[in-house]
Amino acid sequence: MAPRKKPLPSSEDRLISQRTAQRLIREPEFISSLDELENAYLTQWAATRPQEQEKREVAYYGLKAVRDVRARLERLASAAVVRDKQEQIEHERGPKCPSCGAGVGEQHGEGCSILAANLARLNAMTGKPNA
Ligand SMILES: [Zn+2]
Repeated sequence: MAPRKKPLPSSEDRLISQRTAQRLIREPEFISSLDELENAYLTQWAATRPQEQEKREVAYYGLKAVRDVRARLERLASAAVVRDKQEQIEHERGPKCPSCGAGVGEQHGEGCSILAANLARLNAMTGKPNA
């Protein structure tokens, strides 16, 4: 059987996980739990005797898992920061034309339906036939 492809997360799903990550990495109790786990694995690792390779590996993979979780959350949270900045910039630029995406003070693009509708209305007001 062919492996089922996992659908890509929607932009909304991504936003939710970014926001969740942002909240988690600001949560002192969550962060101190991660710190405690890391310290516990490091202590375990350091306490092994030379011949206890397996114990060291267990501690190593535990530490790695905790650090992977931390890194993933930090990546998600910084994506949220980037997204917020982009939204802020968009907001400062003002509204955009829903048809062609032109911003305030910008020329409407070719084939813009809003521009065409405005021209038609203008022509109707001035009595000119529509082009
Ligand atoms: Zn337009």
